[in-house]
Amino acid sequence: MSSKWVYFFNEVDQAEKFVGGDWDAVRGLLGGKGANLAEMTRLRVPVPPGFTLTTEACNAYLAAGETFPEGMWEQELEALKAVESATGKKFGDTKNPLLVSCRSGGKFSMPGMMDTVLNIGLNDDTLEGMIKLTGDERFVYDLYRRLVQMFGSVVMGIPGEPFEEMITETRQKAKAKTDAELTADDWKKVTEKFKKIFKKHTNKDFPTDPYEQLKMSTEAVFKSWDGKRAIDYRNAAGIAHNLGTAVNIQTMIFGNMGNDSATGVAMTRNASTGEKHIEGDYLMNAQGEDVVAGIRLTKDIQELKKDLPKAYAEFEQICKKLEKHYRDMQDVEFTIEKSKLWMLQTRDGKRTAQSAVRIAVNMVEEGLITKEEAVLRVSPEQVDFFLHPQFDTETKKSAKNSGTMLATGLNVSPGAAVGMVAFDADLAESWAKDENKQVIMVRPETKPDDVHGMLAAEGILTSRGGRTSHAALVARQFGKPAVVGVSALEIDFGNRQMKVGEVVVKEGDWISIDGTDGEVYLGQLETMVPDIKDLWLLKLLSWADEFRRLGVWANADYPKDAERAREYGAEGIGLCRTEHMFFESERLPHIQKMILTDVQAERHDALEALLPYQREDFAGLFRAMDGLPVIIRLIDPPLHEFLPAPFDLMHELTDLKLRLQQASNTAEGDDLSKQIESKENLLKQAESLHETNPMLGLRGVRLGITIPELTTMQVRAIFEAACIVAKEGVDVKPEVMIPLTSHVNELKVQRGVLEAEAKKVMQEQGIEVDYKFGTMIEIPRAALTADQITEYAEFISFGTNDLTQTTYGISRDDAESGFLIDYIQKGILPNNPFATIDRDGVGQLMQIAVTKGRAKNPDLECGICGEHGGDPESILLCHELGLTYVSCSPFRVPIARLAAAHAALQGRMTKDQ
Ligand code: ADP
Ligand code: MG
Ligand code: MG
Repeated sequence: MSSKWVYFFNEVDQAEKFVGGDWDAVRGLLGGKGANLAEMTRLRVPVPPGFTLTTEACNAYLAAGETFPEGMWEQELEALKAVESATGKKFGDTKNPLLVSCRSGGKFSMPGMMDTVLNIGLNDDTLEGMIKLTGDERFVYDLYRRLVQMFGSVVMGIPGEPFEEMITETRQKAKAKTDAELTADDWKKVTEKFKKIFKKHTNKDFPTDPYEQLKMSTEAVFKSWDGKRAIDYRNAAGIAHNLGTAVNIQTMIFGNMGNDSATGVAMTRNASTGEKHIEGDYLMNAQGEDVVAGIRLTKDIQELKKDLPKAYAEFEQICKKLEKHYRDMQDVEFTIEKSKLWMLQTRDGKRTAQSAVRIAVNMVEEGLITKEEAVLRVSPEQVDFFLHPQFDTETKKSAKNSGTMLATGLNVSPGAAVGMVAFDADLAESWAKDENKQVIMVRPETKPDDVHGMLAAEGILTSRGGRTSHAALVARQFGKPAVVGVSALEIDFGNRQMKVGEVVVKEGDWISIDGTDGEVYLGQLETMVPDIKDLWLLKLLSWADEFRRLGVWANADYPKDAERAREYGAEGIGLCRTEHMFFESERLPHIQKMILTDVQAERHDALEALLPYQREDFAGLFRAMDGLPVIIRLIDPPLHEFLPAPFDLMHELTDLKLRLQQASNTAEGDDLSKQIESKENLLKQAESLHETNPMLGLRGVRLGITIPELTTMQVRAIFEAACIVAKEGVDVKPEVMIPLTSHVNELKVQRGVLEAEAKKVMQEQGIEVDYKFGTMIEIPRAALTADQITEYAEFISFGTNDLTQTTYGISRDDAESGFLIDYIQKGILPNNPFATIDRDGVGQLMQIAVTKGRAKNPDLECGICGEHGGDPESILLCHELGLTYVSCSPFRVPIARLAAAHAALQGRMTKDQ
């Protein structure tokens, strides 16, 4: 059975038919580069004729033990014949020779794959033909030396330096400042010397048979798929090893044929801001890689308008056409030969988050895509970009130009970080904590013992490891920018330094890492915080609001947080934690007194003193959220959290007692004795409140049942505030949330007491407000008995942090910096259940609760107020469960709005080509 290994650029229809019409599969077969060359050919964009050996050909070649399976080479030769007749040139011909390039390209672009070889087909004979044809000896020898150089380094693996050194030497001898000043004769000599270098390194002569050149190049691309660099990269980036790479063989176009020729690269829009104009660089009279190699100073694409107006006008038209066809910003490569424009590559352009947002919005306004598509094109993570410091694009560009970009690696945790290099965790911690330094922790890879240093550092850099390495997981967990798998980095612990090539960075030197793009820079790069009030983002989010079904609320304890949340688009407060208010310095003594006294009257006084504070806090929240619901949770943590730790008290006591010994029988002594007595009292109380498992102890609703005066005071404060503010004309919607219910009777008892107080307050105030009583669901038993619970709760809210802890029987604080990371690395858990809701366990409990609760009360308000409420994957689950809203930190509200829209649109949309 003979397979079709080769597709001509104008055979995209056949390729499409072969894979069943799916464009993604066409890219899988022809590789990204090949598929788009074929597609451009179909669009009648000028593309130099050529053909693609498929990724399947690559796999078959490798499977056959690195030899061409029957028919493959013959198909390549046949395709070459077709190129000959399309161009009127002949491969290996001495009069009118065809030259081709050999270009690799898998489904995903991938460092580690073989670089391009240009000018294949040149040798001492065809060279003569080229010289006669062009009348330009210098040009042709330049082509030839490039072929020997590229073929030598790319196909044969000869290091680049001997070639570069030879050119430098020649320039010096000729007293030439640039390559442009070298003559035909210079290049001729260089070519001969290059051939000698070739022989010296390979023990073989440079192959002068054009067919041998072609065959060896093709095979080298195939083999590079299994090269170490490529395998390492795929392992790190999570790309499948069975995809294979395609090989593109394409007629050469010469951008170095004089001053009516040029070569360049461009983006159809600005990739950092999204502004709608072509951005790019080009070189007159140059070939291929010269532009990106940075050897010559490139020109701004705008100047091409003056240099070659006709070609530029056509280029502009083609950019428009490609954008219209691909319905996205394109990243293109082109070459102009004697004023004639040729396109050599197109692909969807990479862009910053800011640019992604603006381009998506603009493309809707231009009628290229729908609002739904625009919303789906921006990921929630990209919205996150607007919230953290980033490196300025211009700053990065000039750093790259000035050569201070050190290396690249995997972008595993986004954001910008600047700091001094520290090679171990202890040093990172002591520099950061004791000396207040900004630190970047640098390791080959990290281990659980390193976590304290990673937490103290601004960012993390490792030379090994992939997307699921310990460093990557911990960094994402704690929101630290990180770049991992920087294989160019050699860490030398002995000398406390690291090296990239010749560049040495010592411990304590400044570096900057960009976790968004996976880049490492020398020195301190400037950072900036993008503006969340970006006009394009606001527009995109307003579209997202049209599509989402989930409400987006926020967790806010203070009026200023509530205001910010509202500004970001929150439609309610899903969680106000009242206990935070107790920790403020003027309030803490009252709460401590309340806890420590056994005397009823003293407790009453302490609560009385706290009431006005709470009332003021709540009034502020209600005013900020005028017209929107505000859920206030009654006190939740165990009381010992409000008291000093016994260990600290004992320390203080020892101190006091020592001082007393020296000061006995004086006035100071009397005072000290009193202090000792009261501290001893405090210690006794603190010890009596000590619990072995406070997380599972006297907290939540259990507190309210034990000390009803406390929660009653809170409810009084809520309703006094609500009534006062309502009288000001504010529309208040208080919802009182009772935490940690496990049995319906707890709710029944608490609610009875609390609602009576609420009614009493409203009577006193002479005004009624709408209110709800509800509970948190954070214990499996509560979820399983939601039908009973909802008899006493008008709303439920999933506290998924505690619900995850109680479902797994894992204490988050203990696990997250310890065995949990280990679990994830070993694949025992797919991801951190405290970051993304565990669908099968916790998710199922939520589903049971919603189903049972809504069976009793179809209008039951069901929300989530755990941190998961801001996590896109968890938001998708909440959408599927039919929750009323998700509530998250104010900063994550925009992210949640977009994620909720994605959840609603998913399934409704399939990306059409
Ligand atoms: P990469 O994937 O690294 O971008 P390419 O295969 O796109 O490599 O080749 C790099 C550059 O080589 C192209 O941008 C183009 O300038 C030049 N090049 C490749 N093939 C040809 C060709 N047939 N004619 C002229 N230039 C070419
Ligand atoms: Mg390219
Ligand atoms: Mg809780």
